Amino acid sequence: MSSAAPVRLLLATRNRGKLAELQRLLDGAVPGVQVVGLDAVEPFPETPETGATFAENALLKARDGARATGLPAVADDSGIAVDALNGMPGVLSARWSGRHGDDDANTALLLGQLADVPDERRGAAFVCAAALVTPGGVEQVVERAWRGRVIREKRGSNGFGYDPVFVPEGLTVTSAELDPAEKDARSHRGQAFAALVPVVAATLAAG
Ligand code: IMP
Repeated sequence: MSSAAPVRLLLATRNRGKLAELQRLLDGAVPGVQVVGLDAVEPFPETPETGATFAENALLKARDGARATGLPAVADDSGIAVDALNGMPGVLSARWSGRHGDDDANTALLLGQLADVPDERRGAAFVCAAALVTPGGVEQVVERAWRGRVIREKRGSNGFGYDPVFVPEGLTVTSAELDPAEKDARSHRGQAFAALVPVVAATLAAG
């Protein structure tokens, strides 16, 4: 029987996949930790994602969560940074077409913008920042990138967002053609969450 007291950690998301992924990663490192999502806590006002960087947005969301719940809080922010667009859509990835979360319109606009860009200049990266904020004021953020290139037509039906047009470095399939576990193991978000795990472990152990 474990003697560790249960610790609740907020992950500021309603996405069950993200909750399960962080829980799985933390299980070995923080005995007794329970990752809870926004649906498991009292609703609270969420600051709009107005940060200029992924790290700022992740910190905004984690601060909101820690302040409202009194729990240590983790939040992530992500997007695609395209070389030929000087790093855009970046933090505007989810609303690139002007409609927040319209994956088809966002992807179509990106493909149109890159129509005349030759194959050798279609490099891009999915980027994810993951932040930890405690009610006591500790703030930590890590960022990871998953490099690849943007192809010309959509392929695959797994994933979301720009996955159907992103071929990760070293692969010939798009990230929408990977099975979800395989994507999690390689992705910007999987890498950022994995990098945050030792930070969470050390921060919670320090009280
Ligand atoms: P958020 O971090 O949930 O706000 O996501 C921002 C946006 O970036 C999403 O709406 C997608 O358009 C894009 N994005 C972030 N991560 C991924 C990914 O793993 N695959 C495809 N698109 C992504």
